[in-house]
Amino acid sequence: MEQAMRNFFLFLSKNKPITKMAKKYGLRFGAARFVAGSSIDQAVEVIRELNKQNLVVTIDYLGEFVDNVEEANQMALECVEAVRAIGREKLRSQLSLKLTSMGLDLQEDVVTKNMRMILEEARKHDVFVTIDMEDYSRCEKTLEIFKTLKLEYDNIGTVIQAYLYRTEKDMEELNAYSPNLRLVKGAYKESSKVAFPEKKDVDDNFKKIIKMHMLNGNYTAIATHDDKIIDYTKKLAEEHNIPRDQFEFQMLFGICVERQRELVEEGYKMRVYVPYGTDWYGYFMRRLAERPANVAFVLKGVMKN
Ligand code: FAD
Repeated sequence: MEQAMRNFFLFLSKNKPITKMAKKYGLRFGAARFVAGSSIDQAVEVIRELNKQNLVVTIDYLGEFVDNVEEANQMALECVEAVRAIGREKLRSQLSLKLTSMGLDLQEDVVTKNMRMILEEARKHDVFVTIDMEDYSRCEKTLEIFKTLKLEYDNIGTVIQAYLYRTEKDMEELNAYSPNLRLVKGAYKESSKVAFPEKKDVDDNFKKIIKMHMLNGNYTAIATHDDKIIDYTKKLAEEHNIPRDQFEFQMLFGICVERQRELVEEGYKMRVYVPYGTDWYGYFMRRLAERPANVAFVLKGVMKN
């Protein structure tokens, strides 16, 4: 039953017409619990509050499906604005973005042009940029673009998903770039041809790649709400004397908030992924898919609206 609900929400997350419709109607159905607002000004307020609690941030201007080059360029300009706001307001925040929103499905030169524009601005303000990883069909291209840009910019990282069979090999190849990587379980619905269908295998592979990346001396962001993975990482760091400035934990805005504060109190770096913007629908559906119990919030939201 839970799996069926997961699949249902992941199916909804990819629905283009609903995505476009949702954009017109502000944050609905409890989405405000996971999304920091629809404008950069609202996001800045949220980041300020998080920074006050010693939580650092990565900000994400939401947007997934762009239909033409103009839309992709507009998304890139929004990212530049976000970087400028981080610099101007002296926020402790990085930037996250998706290559599809920069035009990945349209033309490769559009993506690289947009990325260079954002990375140049980010470099000026000392802002680090992470390329989120999307579904399997975009993985290869995303890694290729990351490698190209990493040769030109230090302030860039990307994401590796533990559920993919190819991940270990990708990490071996990426090691030559000493990359700053965010490691995650993976949020999309993938076929068993490319991804572990069983949760236990995903968790085992997650631990394996955390160990691999940390012991290789690379900066590692462990992005999870799973206590077992967090405890595993802490133990690994202690056993191998890995300094605390070589890794950080990351969680999503609005999820396991108490745990985020506890980790800060324990002296770990804790980064919160803060999405904002009008294109909240696909992101929100993936959060519901991860935990169908969140649907209770949706129902409350429906009652209110
Ligand atoms: P799970 O085993 O799914 O969850 C462990 C526990 O965490 C659950 O029992 C529950 O208590 C809590 N929890 C998990 N999810 C939720 C939720 N939605 N609501 C409430 N409680 C929850 N995926 C990608 O594919 N590409 C990316 O670029 C990407 N970037 C990410 C960035 C960050 C900072 C984070 C935290 C996640 C990112 N993800 C990304 C999502 C990730 O792949 C997982 O889908 C997500 O983190 C849930 O897995 P988990 O590791 O928390 O473990």
